[in-house]
Amino acid sequence: MHALITGGAGFIGSHLSDALLAAGHHVHVLDDLSTGAMANIAHLKAHARFGYTIDSVANEPLVAELVDGADVVFHLAAAVGVRKIVEEPVATIETNVHGTEVLLRQANKKKRLVVLASTSEVYGKSTDFPFREEADLVMGPTHKHRWAYACSKALDEFLALAYYKERRLPVIIVRLFNTVGPRQTGQYGMVIPTFVGQALRADAITVHGDGQQLRSFTYVGDVVRALVALAQEPRAIGQVFNIGNGEEISILALAEKVKAMTGSTSDIVKIPYEEAYESGFEDMARRVPDISRIAALIGYAPSVGLDQVLTEVIASMRPPAGAPVD
Ligand code: UDP
Repeated sequence: MHALITGGAGFIGSHLSDALLAAGHHVHVLDDLSTGAMANIAHLKAHARFGYTIDSVANEPLVAELVDGADVVFHLAAAVGVRKIVEEPVATIETNVHGTEVLLRQANKKKRLVVLASTSEVYGKSTDFPFREEADLVMGPTHKHRWAYACSKALDEFLALAYYKERRLPVIIVRLFNTVGPRQTGQYGMVIPTFVGQALRADAITVHGDGQQLRSFTYVGDVVRALVALAQEPRAIGQVFNIGNGEEISILALAEKVKAMTGSTSDIVKIPYEEAYESGFEDMARRVPDISRIAALIGYAPSVGLDQVLTEVIASMRPPAGAPVD
């Protein structure tokens, strides 16, 4: 296949580029480097089946041209990271809503398959565990900026499904549950690279709240395998899929595990949410997927557990002897 990957220089997009090229496909990356980095795709630049354009998904003539050259579009370009969303709500809403609007309009003109990356964040404050694709979404109020991310992504889902229903545009929606692995940056607040960086520098490991909140982390390699398989499965079209891993851990237990696995002398400190983000910040106490739909369709099963993820992330972030940790 000829794949266009928006956000292809990001953490997930660059791993998807690697996987598609390894499977013999062609890849073109469109990325504005807002949160992505050339370093993530530098090793692909010389590859004969790889190309890239540094620009925004809001550049509609460019998107039209790139979509035309592709048979499938993986739309991963988005504002990500809870901290970024709280600090820059305007950019979050505009990027996530307008970028997807442009992409879907152009994909629709050529009827190209779109695989749209959404997020487990859309389940919001739901307590109906595990989260099923058909379940109600429970959003917080509009004055709490965190919910702008969930709402913007939910709107993307609505628009994609509307194109599918009304215009027969082939779309597949995936809700990703805390994707982790090498190349993820801690710069936008993601917990695993943040904790590993703190542990390696012997800085305090900053647990938000009481640390009893539960997350289930999904290895990026499992996510990418699922994306590639779904794109080749016609029965996936018009559907929403959770991609995750049912193994849960509390954030405090995660901090302890990172400390032990790095052999760090760091203290583990608890930071109130209002200090970490903003006053009135609401976190999800628990977030765990039901993955039976994707398991039934493509035989998806997570293959890499948290210990292996942490081993890889620690190895990728540990500096050579004597050098400082980024
Ligand atoms: N978190 C934390 N310390 C940090 C960064 C994050 O305790 O330095 C917590 C965060 O409050 C949340 C969990 O770790 O409860 C996962 O955060 P992340 O931003 O990675 O993903 P989220 O699940 O919020 O989308």
